[in-house]
Amino acid sequence: MQNGDVIHYELKEFQVFEPLFRWARKKSLWIVAFCTGCGGIEMPPLANARYDFERFGIMINPSPRMGDLFLITGYVTPKTLKRIIITYEMMQDPKYILAHGSCPINGGVYWDSYNVVKQLDKYIPIDVAIAGCMPRAEAVMDGITTIMKKIENGEADGWKRYRENYEWYRKNQDELFGEGWREKDARRWLAWI
Ligand code: SF4
Repeated sequence: MQNGDVIHYELKEFQVFEPLFRWARKKSLWIVAFCTGCGGIEMPPLANARYDFERFGIMINPSPRMGDLFLITGYVTPKTLKRIIITYEMMQDPKYILAHGSCPINGGVYWDSYNVVKQLDKYIPIDVAIAGCMPRAEAVMDGITTIMKKIENGEADGWKRYRENYEWYRKNQDELFGEGWREKDARRWLAWI
């Protein structure tokens, strides 16, 4: 081999390291700092002295491009859902979603509201959902340790499901928002598009 030659590695050549990668991912979860709904109020106690989630390698991160754990912390309206989808798509694979409370699962106390999304996993893939209204910090910690175990076992596969079933997710999104919503809205938020 000479200087300047390009080396091509097949992804499968690294598969032997996959358990190590999964362990490292589990130990360094960066949370996308975008809290939706009431559950966000449980985040300060989780980050402060009592629960101190930094001891698990978890930290709040300002950018979706560097985050890998997206917390959906409560009810979701169509307006918020657009932001959630765009933010989720900006995150790099592998990425994980933890949903707090009854609202993202079935609409919760807003189940009969005209403006609350009743079943979030029709639009984006959820890896772990925590029941309750609102789930206490202990329950959220339990959800976090559950997602860490799933990452280590290779079972937190929402990001793969999103890719493999993208047409289905996209169809559901378009049914709710109308076709072309993504381009129209993204252009409004991202001036360079
Ligand atoms: S589950 Fe309860 S606490 Fe959570 S967003 Fe819904 S109403 Fe608020």
